[in-house]
Amino acid sequence: MSKNLLEIKNVTKVYQRGLLSSHAKVALKEFSLTLKEDEPTILTVAGESGSGKTTLAMLLLGFITPTTGEILYKGQNIVSLRGPDRIAYRREVQAVFQDPFAVFNPFYTVDHLLTVPIKQFKLAKSGRDARNKMDEALNAVGLRPEDVLGRFPHQLSGGQRQRINVARALMLKPRLLIADEPVSMVDASLRANILESLRNMHRDHGVTIIYITHDLTTAYHVADSITVLYRGDVVEKGDVESVIRNPQHAYTRLLVDSIPWPNLDQKWGQHSIRSQASQDEFHAGAPTP
Ligand code: ADP
Ligand code: MG
Repeated sequence: MSKNLLEIKNVTKVYQRGLLSSHAKVALKEFSLTLKEDEPTILTVAGESGSGKTTLAMLLLGFITPTTGEILYKGQNIVSLRGPDRIAYRREVQAVFQDPFAVFNPFYTVDHLLTVPIKQFKLAKSGRDARNKMDEALNAVGLRPEDVLGRFPHQLSGGQRQRINVARALMLKPRLLIADEPVSMVDASLRANILESLRNMHRDHGVTIIYITHDLTTAYHVADSITVLYRGDVVEKGDVESVIRNPQHAYTRLLVDSIPWPNLDQKWGQHSIRSQASQDEFHAGAPTP
C-alpha cells in the first residue's frame, strides 16, 4: 500500500485580531489534501491575493499552527514532531518564497547562504564535498558557480537570486517543495527559466512541488493538478488541463479569462536549461529555439 507523504485534514486557520472574536479572519477553511510518497507530482494552489495561499504555505512549514484540523507528514502530526523526525521534516520540506531577497543576509556572500544548510544538516563529508554539492545544485538551476560564488546579494540580479534559492532547496534533497509565488517578483523574461528549474527538480529528483500562484498561465505550464482557492475556500480542483480548459466555477472562469491564450501553446520543460546559458539576463530569458 502506498504511503502518504503529506496529509492535510480539514485544516482551518483563523487569525484573531484583537480580543473580540468578531474581528476574527478565517484565512483558510477546511482545507484537505493528500499527496502520496511514491507519486511525486506538481500541484498548483491558485487564487487571488488574500485567498489564503501564503497561510497554507506557513501552515505546511510549521511556522503557524492550524486552528482546527491537522497536518500529517509521513503519517505524523507536524506539530508534535521531535528529535530526528523533526530534523528530517525540516530538511525534507523546503520552501522558495516570493521575494528572492528576503532570505539573503546582505552582509554574507552566496557561499555562506549555501554553506549554512550543508553544515546544519551535515550534508557533506569534507570541504571539497560541500563545494561539489554547491556546484551541482547551481548547475542544475542554470547558474555557473564562478559567476555567483563569492558575490553579495546586491551584486546579483533578481533572477539569479531566485535561482540560488531554488539551488539551496535542491541541495537539501527535499521530498516536498513549497514554492509561494516564486516568480512574481522576477522579470517576466526569466520566469520560464526558474519554473523550468522547478520542473527539473521534480523530474530528476522526484520532488513533489506545491506551486502557489495567482497566475493561471504559469500554473498551466508547470502543474499536473490544480486547486483553486477563493477567500479561503476551495472552489475547484482537478487536473490542470481540464480545470483551465473547462472551468466550472465562476471565479475560476474569471481567472482563466485573464490568461493570454497564445502562450499556452508551448509547454515549458520540454527544453532543458542550457547550463552554459549566458548570465546576461536578457539572453537567459530568451525562448529556447
Ligand atoms: P494570499 O497569500 O493568498 O494573498 P494570505 O494567506 O496571505 O493570502 O492571507 C489570507 C487572509 O488572511 C487575508 O485576508 C489576510 O489579510 C489575512 N491574514 C494573513 N496573515 C494574517 C495575520 N498574521 N493576521 C491577521 N490576518 C492575516
Ligand atoms: Mg501570499
